[in-house]
Amino acid sequence: MIRALVVLCVALLIACDTEVSDDDTTNLLHPSPTPVGTERVRSNTPTPTPTLTPTPTSEPEKLGVDKPTPNLLSYPATVIEGGDLARLTLPANVTVNTSGCASDGSCYWYNFYWAATHEVVLQGSEPELRRVHELCHAHQHGVIRRELSPSEYDLHPWYGTVEAVSYEAIAGHDWPWKEAFSSQNSLLEDFAEACAWWYVKPSELYTLSRARYDWMRENLP
Ligand SMILES: [Zn+2]
Repeated sequence: MIRALVVLCVALLIACDTEVSDDDTTNLLHPSPTPVGTERVRSNTPTPTPTLTPTPTSEPEKLGVDKPTPNLLSYPATVIEGGDLARLTLPANVTVNTSGCASDGSCYWYNFYWAATHEVVLQGSEPELRRVHELCHAHQHGVIRRELSPSEYDLHPWYGTVEAVSYEAIAGHDWPWKEAFSSQNSLLEDFAEACAWWYVKPSELYTLSRARYDWMRENLP
């Protein structure tokens, strides 16, 4: 009898160990009620390693292939751009007169812009820079007429315009002009000269006064 019980107990213990072992394994690894079938497929199939696909920008360069050395001489030199004189705003009906005298009989020995008749008056055939300088005075006249009251005789009201105040902030009174221009002692003339350089020789203006060049680029066409 005792022997029979021992055998029975041993048999039960083996059965119980097997049962508990399976349940424990399942519960520890998969506490959530995951379907066994699916789980077995997963556990038997190794997770594929993601294949990294390089994007064009991160594609590794081929080893042993030398990149050509850039030829610096093949690059274009920096282009210093200037303005488009055709787009400079002027009063209506501005003309260029090379007789040295305005049409109303006003004569001077130097080039000038005559507000009364909207004339750029030159002393004969003058360089392009001188003609554009006077056109820039005509522009100042147009700013006065547009922003203040029409002034047909004097350009000094320009000092009260937004343009003049803005320009003075960068130009100050440190005239950079090396030649004997009236531009050396007057903001009105300094502006006209810088304006002319902006249209005729912007590279030189860029070199002479970067602040003036930048202002022109920001404010004039
Ligand atoms: Zn002038």
